[in-house]
Amino acid sequence: MDTIQVLDKKFRISIPEKEILQRVEAVAQRINRDMAGKNPLFLAVLNGSFIFAADLMRFITIPSEISFVKLASYQGTTSTGKVKEVIGINENLAGRTIIIVEDIVESGLTIKRMLETLGTRNPESVHICTLLLKPEKLQVDLDIDYVALRIPNDFILGYGLDYNQQGRNLRDIYTLVTDNEQPKPVIMRNIVIFGAPGSGKGTQSDKLIEKYGLNHISTGDVLRGEIKNGTELGKIAKQYIDDGMLVPDSLIVDMLAGVYDSYGKEHKGVIFDGFPRTVPQAEALKKMLSERGHKVAAMIELDVPEDELMTRLLKRGELSGRTDDNAETIKKRLDVYHSQTAPLIEWYENDGIRHKIDGLGDLDHIFADICKVVEEL
Ligand code: AMP
Repeated sequence: MDTIQVLDKKFRISIPEKEILQRVEAVAQRINRDMAGKNPLFLAVLNGSFIFAADLMRFITIPSEISFVKLASYQGTTSTGKVKEVIGINENLAGRTIIIVEDIVESGLTIKRMLETLGTRNPESVHICTLLLKPEKLQVDLDIDYVALRIPNDFILGYGLDYNQQGRNLRDIYTLVTDNEQPKPVIMRNIVIFGAPGSGKGTQSDKLIEKYGLNHISTGDVLRGEIKNGTELGKIAKQYIDDGMLVPDSLIVDMLAGVYDSYGKEHKGVIFDGFPRTVPQAEALKKMLSERGHKVAAMIELDVPEDELMTRLLKRGELSGRTDDNAETIKKRLDVYHSQTAPLIEWYENDGIRHKIDGLGDLDHIFADICKVVEEL
């Protein structure tokens, strides 16, 4: 259980015991190195530091001593808040190397006060070692030699630190769960990026992936991977692809669910690129997603005139080396698009999620138009 109740408040684990101990050991090793031959006197400040001090001391391997002090509230208050006084120093500090062991340094006022008090007893030097430091809260200039962990400005508990004296015994460090802190829901943006071959689906998909952390399923890429790996599916697909025809729906749909599920149950969304290409595929996609409690949030249609598509694909063919980017196959693919894929425009229009984008012009402008749609989802 990561969340616990202490009195009237909820806390969740923020630093597990294992991590704390690693950091404590690292600090101890630095002290072992720096303080060898100095027989340092550790002054641990009660109550909060008792667990930290106990663990720290067991990692200390050089000759050293430890004593415990307490802070008592100082009479009155100052403009900077309550000041406390150190009590319980029974040792002669003259000429000693002192290491103050604190559980947490927040404003730094208390530590500053301690340094002043100890300074009057002529120690050789005074160093600060704290388990936790809240850098955002520091109000005074302090030279803190040893910090095990730096933490944000949250209320914390455990490993010696308390909430109304409770919770010091907890092995991990916990952070207060505030009332308005809701578990953040993952916004899932499943997007069908739609358009004729050469409309820029792949290019815009890459930009969406980068900006929104989405996943990408390009059925064309998956099929080319299958061909490259010489799989059964690849062998069948190759004949259709080289011919500019669509691979049969059943093969595509079977392949899709596996790829989709590989992204887990709570992803940020998947861009479907080159899928669906037929009405049965769109229906199969809808069914597959609804079985998982998911849906397509938007169909984004990139609208590009035919002559521009031809120009782009021929140019791409020179660079990509794709066997289906030649004039004859491109012509066939565009025909197939019009007869089998374009009916999906109406299908998605009826589904209420079609968004038409002008796919001509500057890439970044097109992308900005797409982002407007995505951000509304
Ligand atoms: P693409 O990379 O999306 O242009 O796809 C290249 C070729 O792979 C297409 O011309 C089809 O032969 C095949 N293909 C890709 N996706 C699909 C799909 N969803 N349904 C049927 N065939 C597809």
